[in-house]
Amino acid sequence: MKFVRLASATVIRSIVVVIAGLPVFGTFSVNAGAAELPGDEKLRIICFGAHPDDCELQAGGVAAMWSAKGHKVKFVSVTNGDIGHWREAGGPLALRRKNEVEAAAKILGITTEVLDIHDGELLPTLEYRRLITRLIREWNADIVMSHRPNDYHPDHRYTGVLVQDAAYMVTVPFICPDVPPLKKNPVFLYYPDSFQKPNPFQPDVVVSIDSVVEKKLDALGVIVSQFYEGGANGSADLMPADPAKQKDRHQQVRDNFAKRNQSIAARFRSKLDDWYTKDRAEKIKHAEAFELCEYGRRPDKTELARLFPFFEK
Ligand SMILES: [Zn+2]
Repeated sequence: MKFVRLASATVIRSIVVVIAGLPVFGTFSVNAGAAELPGDEKLRIICFGAHPDDCELQAGGVAAMWSAKGHKVKFVSVTNGDIGHWREAGGPLALRRKNEVEAAAKILGITTEVLDIHDGELLPTLEYRRLITRLIREWNADIVMSHRPNDYHPDHRYTGVLVQDAAYMVTVPFICPDVPPLKKNPVFLYYPDSFQKPNPFQPDVVVSIDSVVEKKLDALGVIVSQFYEGGANGSADLMPADPAKQKDRHQQVRDNFAKRNQSIAARFRSKLDDWYTKDRAEKIKHAEAFELCEYGRRPDKTELARLFPFFEK
């Protein structure tokens, strides 16, 4: 019965392709199975964040590590960040923030894109579900990352919902037929947060980023509007006129981010033992952590280790 339905779909699709004059997208196989990556195949990772700074904060370390190994990483900010400052807003702020994440992307060795959707106004609409579905397909992603849908900010929540809503659709040929469906369902992962209700973040992968932590801190350092100046809830008090104090302020920002990644390593220390020898795990200072979403492909530990090729003992 399944086979018959698939065959019918193929016929219909062929007709659509001829009529529309679109390129042939390959087979219709909606394969959500755990096909193995060939050893020489480079990974393709796409990370969604609600604002131009979220991906850098949550996955800047692993992005730099994947990039250093020749894998392809793309960060997407789903909104343009145009209300994310206490002093300025609108188009000029959106442009400024786009420039900031582009500078960060150069440091990390990755690609970045900022979608032109107003900050603070993201909704989980069908239009945006299609947009996210296309972006994941166009990147031919093996891994997709996003916020959990119970994060604190509505843009974070709806980014999480939109990515979840795309998690199956990326494999379905007749939605967004202008972009080829993925033959293999990607692995979807969530960033950490500290919210307990309705359920706390539970990491499946915790990665040491000690080898790239300075690079990550450099990348966060160029996102001046958000971190040095304090973003939406900042103030002029954060920006001293005295150059020596400005230097101190930059160092303070850097130290705070180092501590943030240190606290992830401390919070999930027992989970680090799953991925590193006990000796090595004890020495890890900075980490990033990710939780598997149930809706994408469900990799086993062997596949996760292949997707995160950083766990040499
Ligand atoms: Zn954000």
